[in-house]
Amino acid sequence: MSKRINWKAFKERIPARVQVGARRFFEIVWVQSFSDPSIFGETRFSPDQIALRAVDSEKEICHTYYHELLHAFSDQYEVGLTEAQVMKLEKALHYILKDGNLIKEKL
Ligand SMILES: [Zn+2]
Repeated sequence: MSKRINWKAFKERIPARVQVGARRFFEIVWVQSFSDPSIFGETRFSPDQIALRAVDSEKEICHTYYHELLHAFSDQYEVGLTEAQVMKLEKALHYILKDGNLIKEKL
């Protein structure tokens, strides 16, 4: 059973900050552009931030969000994921975050 993703609705549910550890949060910051136009997003440290480009499509923004989250988790738990590994896991994180998938919807 597959449900179509409403990317616009998903994007609107991206929070202002996201918790990645017991006492660690990343602030979500929205930017118009990056100095390198081939970059879709950025995970920044001290201060901890995930920068997303507001002008991208909703679907791109959601995938970038998954991607940057993985960099943040990798840093928090000292996993040392490479860029190639993050790009592969980005697809997995989509299914982890999909509503009603890993845990069922509220009764
Ligand atoms: Zn990356």
